[in-house]
Amino acid sequence: MGGLMTVIHTEDPCVHCGNPTAFGSGRFVNRIPVEEGWGCADCTGYECDRCDKQIYLDAEITPEQCGMDNDEFSDGHRHVCESCLTAHESSQYHSESESII
Ligand SMILES: [Zn+2]
Ligand SMILES: [Zn+2]
Repeated sequence: MGGLMTVIHTEDPCVHCGNPTAFGSGRFVNRIPVEEGWGCADCTGYECDRCDKQIYLDAEITPEQCGMDNDEFSDGHRHVCESCLTAHESSQYHSESESII
């Protein structure tokens, strides 16, 4: 070797967006190990099946959370963002989450 070990990988950039996920970056807690390195929580959640928007990690809404026994919404979708819920699904979702909390 020789020389000082001055190059240390402290950034752990998200493989999707390149933002650092290292401790102190603000993304450390929710970073996810992926095959190539790390992904931040902004990039590793599901995409909304209805609008294709990236959903923050674990913030996607599934039929179960709307009190449905089905594992798909009536339109066949599985992971949607809150703004894509229909009025009915939204009210179901909020009454479900209230009964859990
Ligand atoms: Zn990212
Ligand atoms: Zn959506």
